[in-house]
Order: sequence, then C-alpha cells, then structure tokens
Amino acid sequence: MDLVVKNGTVVTSGSMAVSDVGVEGEKIAVIGPGLTGKREIDARGKYVFPGGIDVHVHLTPSYIPGADAPKRVDDFLSGSAAAVAGGITTIGNMTFQRPGETLREGVARDMEDARRNAVCDYVLHPVLTDPSERNLAQLPDLAADGHTSLKIFLLFEHFDARVADYIKAIQTAGRHGTISMLHCEDGALIRCVCQELLAKGLGAPRYYPNSRPVFTESASVERAVAIVRATGAPAYIVHLSSRAALDAARRGRADGLPVYVETRPIYLYLTRERFEEPDAAKYVGNPPLREVIDLQSIWHGLHHGDIQCLCSDHVGWSLEQKLEPGLNITTVRPGMADLETLMPMLYSEGVHGGRISLSRFVEVTSTNTAKLFGMYPQKGTIAVGSDADLVVWDPAALRKIEGSKMRSNAGYSVYEGRQVQGWPACTISRGEVVFENGEITARRGRGKWVRRGRTMAL
Ligand SMILES: [Zn+2]
Repeated sequence: MDLVVKNGTVVTSGSMAVSDVGVEGEKIAVIGPGLTGKREIDARGKYVFPGGIDVHVHLTPSYIPGADAPKRVDDFLSGSAAAVAGGITTIGNMTFQRPGETLREGVARDMEDARRNAVCDYVLHPVLTDPSERNLAQLPDLAADGHTSLKIFLLFEHFDARVADYIKAIQTAGRHGTISMLHCEDGALIRCVCQELLAKGLGAPRYYPNSRPVFTESASVERAVAIVRATGAPAYIVHLSSRAALDAARRGRADGLPVYVETRPIYLYLTRERFEEPDAAKYVGNPPLREVIDLQSIWHGLHHGDIQCLCSDHVGWSLEQKLEPGLNITTVRPGMADLETLMPMLYSEGVHGGRISLSRFVEVTSTNTAKLFGMYPQKGTIAVGSDADLVVWDPAALRKIEGSKMRSNAGYSVYEGRQVQGWPACTISRGEVVFENGEITARRGRGKWVRRGRTMAL
C-alpha cells in the first residue's frame, strides 16, 4: 500500500469498527486488519471519518446588481486551506456570473480560479441571476458536463419579477438530474419590514433579526415546497434557521417530495441575544440568528433526519469590514468564516455533547451531501474504490477557538473563546496528506474539480 491508516475506529453512515484503511494512489484499496504500507499513520484511539463535504461556500465575488461591497478576504487558496485544517476535503462554491456573462462563462472563470488555487477538491454551483432563455438552454449541457446543481435566491427582487422563468429553470434542472439550491427568504416581505423599521429609526445593525422575521423565511420555504410539488424537481433548501421553516419543509418531505434541508452551524450555537452586544454586526448572516426554540428545533431536526446536511455558508469578511461604521439593516454584510470550525464544533457540541450519534455526524457532514450532489460513492464514504478522502479525528484534542490562528483571512471567529473537544489530527485528500500536526502540507492548486452525476434521492 502507498499509505495505511492503522487501527483507527472507521466510521461511516452505516458502520463503525476498528480497522486499517489501505490506500493505493488516490483510492481506498483495502479495508481490513494487518495492512502495511510505505507510509503508516497511527490512528489508535482516534476516529477515521470520510472527509467532510461542505457544498456551500463563497470564495469568489458575488456580482449581485447594486451590491457595492468591498472585496472579501477569502479566496480558493485560503478557503480551501481552512477546509482541510477542519477536516473538509471537498467544497462547493457559489459561482455568480458577472454582468453579461452566461452561466457557462461564469463557471469557466471560477473553474480556472479554483484550478490554480484550491488545495482540496471542489465543485461549482452556477447561481442563476438571469433566467433568460439562453441561460435555461445551457442547463442540459451543464448537467451533461457534470455540473448538477443550480443556485437560486428567492430573496432577490428579480425572483418575484420573473418567478415563472425561475420555476421553469427549477423544472428543467430537475429533468436533467440537477438539484436546485434555494435561498428561502421572501425578499418583498423583508423589504417591507425594513422600510417600516428604517422609518421608525430602528435601522442599526442590532435590529437585524427584527428585519428578517421567521415568517419571511417560512413563507418562502412554503413557496419552495409548492414549487417542488408542482414540478417534481428536487430542491435543497440552504441554511434553514427556524422551527416554522423546518415545519414547512417537513410537511413537504412527509408527502414524499424531494425536498432536502441544509442548516448552518451558527443556528446550532448562537441565538439572537448576540445582537445586544456592541459589535452586533459581526453576527449578521442570512437568515439572522433566531430564538432558543428555533435552535432546539434545528438540533432536533439534525438528530431525527429532517435536516440532512450541515454546511458552512463560509464568507470571508474581516472584522473591520463587518463592523464598518454607518452600515444599517439593509447594508450590513452577511456571512462569516466557518469552514475550519464546522466539523470540530459539531463534533464537540453534537457528538461529545450527546445530541447526535457518530453515524449521524458522518451523514450530515459528508455522506448525505455526496449523495444529493451526485458525488457518491466516489466521495462521502469509506469504501474500496472510493476516493481516499479521510480525516483522522482526535476525540480527546482540546482546543480553544481563536480566529486569529485560523486559516481564513477573516481573522476572527463568531465562536471566539469557545472550548472545543475533538479536532482533526490529519486530513487526507485523494491519498495525499494535506494537513497534519497543525500544518497545511498541500500544494496550492492540487485540488481537483469533481465531475458529478445526477442527484440521488435520500
Ligand atoms: Zn450562501
């Protein structure tokens, strides 16, 4: 064997046993006892998980009309370094078109950027911001080329203006095995609430949670479920944050609809009380932080399977950018760095904290995402013939979260100072050790694009 991970407890979504994992080239070749290799990694007393898959990151600029924001601080290099340092071996970037570009032109541009810079594997999700006939006509070719996902913001003004075209896009995508990733917040309702708050002088960032109440999310999720009902096309609801929204998705799933739910770490660990702090703006994400009852409901959904995936929605803003004076509820900068902390925080609070099982941890951080995004079983499991994407996990490692010591250029973490138990000891991507002893050992640009098949039902 080229590489053997020895005596670790190998965990997949359906099994757990002490074993060696033998790697030849980029693939897992044997799983069993007594293997020897040119390089051997001692995993005694540690877990071996499939490398994490975070399909929701922003490592390239978004060209949203009118969004006149400064350049964000993370790119494919720093973002993918943060990923592997946190046990994640595949990332999915939101790829916006520049004005005038088609979906395929935008994808080609980001493909080149990722090819030069990424240290882990990646996929790209074209973001549909113009459902023109020309863009819709490209959906079958994108799917045939292996880009089987499409991102749509129900939030944007042009969604309501052109809803029939967007529904047609979701329908066309579904016919070609492409899953539609839906940002479910009702833009028209949010704009109305914001105007009311601004008129009352309540525009400061601390009122951000008031500006996007739960009903603006649940109404949008209801609409997404109705679109799935009408078209039969699969939909993946990104960063779901509230109990009411989860209830809406659950009703769709109970009827057998292909509705899938992603949540995001911040909704598991933080609540809206954070907005009473002086630097409230650093907690801004879309949707906003919610109440304790919502947080409990998200944990319940993860535990019971109503929520299938946990992804970071990583956006690299520096603290200065987030806290820039003069920003209000309509101009604050949403998103935060969370790639490196996604798996450690979930392990610590979820598995170590007794809220979810080890197999559930593997499902929501890797296996389910691989299936929904057409990468299974190449990615998302530990099996003979799968890519040797592995994370050797030290369940006893104690760490304090310190944003300034992490790989994101953001330089801060919303979990600053939290004590975490469990951290990657070593991350392996396609048979290559890319992170060990706290250091990134990967070469810039070694990451590969993953050609994807059709979305799988869960
Ligand atoms: Zn996002």
